Amino acid sequence: MSLRRWLLTALMIPTTALALPEEARVPGGVAIVPLDGLESATPPVVNYGKNRVMVVPGSDANWVAVVGIPLDAKADEAQQLTLEQGGYSFRINDKAYESQHLTVANKRYVEPDPEDIKRWRKESAEMGAAFRSWSEPEHAITEFKLPAEGPFSSPFGLRRFFNEQPRKPHSGLDIAAPTGAAITAPAPGKVVAVGNYFFNGNTVIVDHGYGLTTMYCHMSHIDVKLGDTLKTGDSIGQVGATGRVTGPHLHWSVSLNNTRVDPLLFIDGK
Ligand SMILES: [Zn+2]
Repeated sequence: MSLRRWLLTALMIPTTALALPEEARVPGGVAIVPLDGLESATPPVVNYGKNRVMVVPGSDANWVAVVGIPLDAKADEAQQLTLEQGGYSFRINDKAYESQHLTVANKRYVEPDPEDIKRWRKESAEMGAAFRSWSEPEHAITEFKLPAEGPFSSPFGLRRFFNEQPRKPHSGLDIAAPTGAAITAPAPGKVVAVGNYFFNGNTVIVDHGYGLTTMYCHMSHIDVKLGDTLKTGDSIGQVGATGRVTGPHLHWSVSLNNTRVDPLLFIDGK
């Protein structure tokens, strides 16, 4: 019996593993990597590239790493997790995401002028800092409720063309809903960014702990402020059409270890 398991048993703490995200070892997916042979009573510090990774109690191994895989990760390269001593590697498979062609009436959103680009760079840095949040609440969150009601109008990972020009792949899930529809917290968390951004419009980023963050874009109205603590179901704001959009919807991003991944992997019974 491992030291950690022995401690948990001695303390009568149930060792039931968390309901983890659905595993998908593909670009834009999540890898669940058992840290086999690691006899540590406390969760180890694990990094993937430059980013710290979520580590939760496992059922077979003592600890498992829950790793967000970037959309530009290459299937022919072994993915490396580094620990203070040693490391683990895992392989991923390719995934062919579909293409989407959109027409945006406001040409500034396709070819931004220098002022827009300057503004976007600053906003991008602000959002980047929020996505790199690391906090350690009592419980790790590994599952979400949907933050809005409506059909999924655009899946994660689409290779996108705006007015026939290639742009970054779709880094979230779009939920179509009318302007004013409710957006609610999918899990407990803390608000780490609130802004009106060039492409994303009215935006909120929530930190759920251990490198897991979520982003809400294009809102008509924001109900939270920086530093607010949210419970599941608390209002974040209302659906809108601010920023680069073709109509009202919620763009919802989920980020693990500063890597945008498919939100549906975190939804139970989607
Ligand atoms: Zn979107």
